[in-house]
Amino acid sequence: MKKALIVFVLIILVAGAILILSVNNRPDTVNVSATTASETSGTSAQTVVKTAAVTSGGSRVEHQTGSPENEVYTDEQLSKMIAFTFDDGPIAKFTNRVLDAMEPYGYTATFFVIGRNIDEEGSKAMRRAVKMGCEIGNHTENHNLKFDSLEIQTRTAEIEESSAKIEKAAGVKPLLLRPPGGVCKNIRGNIDSPIILWSVDTNDWRKKANAGNEQAAQELAQYIMDEVKGKPGSIVLMHDVYQFSAETVEKVMPMLHEEGYIVKSVSSLAKAYGTALENGTVYRTIKR
Ligand SMILES: [Zn+2]
Repeated sequence: MKKALIVFVLIILVAGAILILSVNNRPDTVNVSATTASETSGTSAQTVVKTAAVTSGGSRVEHQTGSPENEVYTDEQLSKMIAFTFDDGPIAKFTNRVLDAMEPYGYTATFFVIGRNIDEEGSKAMRRAVKMGCEIGNHTENHNLKFDSLEIQTRTAEIEESSAKIEKAAGVKPLLLRPPGGVCKNIRGNIDSPIILWSVDTNDWRKKANAGNEQAAQELAQYIMDEVKGKPGSIVLMHDVYQFSAETVEKVMPMLHEEGYIVKSVSSLAKAYGTALENGTVYRTIKR
């Protein structure tokens, strides 16, 4: 009996000890269960981290190429900053060639698209452009060269239809307007967006028959280099709807990079210069 009592007491003591130990070990237990929990939800935790990385990676890309909010530039950089604009697209195969040529240097541009030209492939190219930090501007729905003298309702419809299509296709509302042919005598002062013209006319559309002519592309690229030299804030006009234009862009972008130029969309350039673009005002260059 005595032996049995001793065994019983021992069991009680051991049980007590185990209880005390397990209480003391609770943090470990908690850790273990926390580990388990994090392992269980590990996939989603990793997914979250990955998503965050992609998001920050994405915004980092935007930061390099787009219009970052608070980027500070040196005086030298500001003195070599110009804007490129491409009209009449999107024509996906050429818009994409333009983007391919600009992407390696973190360059951006403003694409003044025509509403009725936006098709599925063009929409994809526009979304790619936006992701790169480029800007989509409004070039009206039908590119009526008499836009300037249209009835106000028709004019408004030309802008609004195109604007709605751009927003649907690219997820951004166009802020800038380039009237067809740049004719804006009658609309300045009474249009709800800044009117963006240009200071460097490449006349690429007149030279579209030069497709495949490398020397002609080289010559036009050199013309652009000469025109923007010493003229920060220049706005270059091209069209992402011709093979020759794409070929010229492929020549001129490396040349600009080599010379230390920074190519930006119009809004991004204005932001870098601290210039507010005002509705109804015509801009041929962006002044510091
Ligand atoms: Zn046009």
